[in-house]
Amino acid sequence: MTISQADERSRAANLVEVEDLKVYFPVRSGIIVDRHVGDVKAVDGISFEIKRGETLGLVGESGCGKTTAGRAILRLLEPTGGRIRFDGDDITHLHGDELRRLRRRMQMVFQDPYSSLNPRRNVGNIVEEPLNVHGIARGKEADGRVQELLEVVGLPRNAGNRYPHEFSGGQRQRIGLARSLALQPDLIIADEPVSALDVSIQAQMINLLEELQDEFQLTYLFIAHDLAVVRHISDRIAVMYLGKIMEVAPSARLYERPLHPYTKALLSAVPIPDPAVELERERILLKGDLPSPTNPPSGCRFHTRCPFAQKKRCPDEVPELRVLENGHTVACHYVEEIDAGRITTRTLEAAEPVAVPG
Ligand code: SF4
Repeated sequence: MTISQADERSRAANLVEVEDLKVYFPVRSGIIVDRHVGDVKAVDGISFEIKRGETLGLVGESGCGKTTAGRAILRLLEPTGGRIRFDGDDITHLHGDELRRLRRRMQMVFQDPYSSLNPRRNVGNIVEEPLNVHGIARGKEADGRVQELLEVVGLPRNAGNRYPHEFSGGQRQRIGLARSLALQPDLIIADEPVSALDVSIQAQMINLLEELQDEFQLTYLFIAHDLAVVRHISDRIAVMYLGKIMEVAPSARLYERPLHPYTKALLSAVPIPDPAVELERERILLKGDLPSPTNPPSGCRFHTRCPFAQKKRCPDEVPELRVLENGHTVACHYVEEIDAGRITTRTLEAAEPVAVPG
């Protein structure tokens, strides 16, 4: 196979390809002279792909850059560096009509179903708006389409006459979904779509997202801070920390055998509904808060909080994302040693730990 044939194949399989994506926000200072004094490096060189029809979960603590990454892919934010390809086309710096056409194929579902719907417009108008803006349907045709969309997301066909405040949180999130589906997109970026909902409603919403994916052949980027939430819906999961990707693995494999120390710590905080297992298992507690993305730690960004950190390499060398086995990709210098138990949190307690700055 030639290189261009291989390239064509990967284009066909992948709907989204992100390569070394960077999104920096400039920090300015000064009253008389406006000076650029630094950057908030919200996303700092991440690469991943999303296959057609797949759900990729993007997980990490608040402030790790996952929402910024999602917005940059949608081109709601201008990337500082790197490349984004959608369906084989480079969309990194699209503008004007080309960007408008692209937006039909990519939609976002927002975290907060309360603030993402205009309270002064009835539900019919809210769901119909994208159809009007993109000149797809108007009048009776648009009304019929709105009724179909409401039915698809499990709301009554006549819900269009009511206003957002008349609905519960879960129902409002369904309205947001109906609006996102109006343009028949290929990709939906769902940014914490269930975290504002009651636990009892979260499962219904996740089931609905899965049903819609099958019915409309959708591809999802599912952003969440909670590994327990993304488990059931994701085919693969990427774990982010301070603007970088630390681990990517098929969902089942990540839960069975997390390899990166950060993922291990996140998973050790997820409760298991079995008191015997809960008592037995080891909790990995992270020290301190997430460092500032304006001045991230040198070397491995996780070294100031990593319970396995070594003085050699961790504070100085940036670990590369390395493909191990079965599509499991990890950015850690010592992943093999930690996995084999040659480096443990206990051996480090005996040894001298890496100093945590200020
Ligand atoms: Fe921890 Fe070092 Fe691995 Fe980073 S490279 S995760 S600091 S052991």
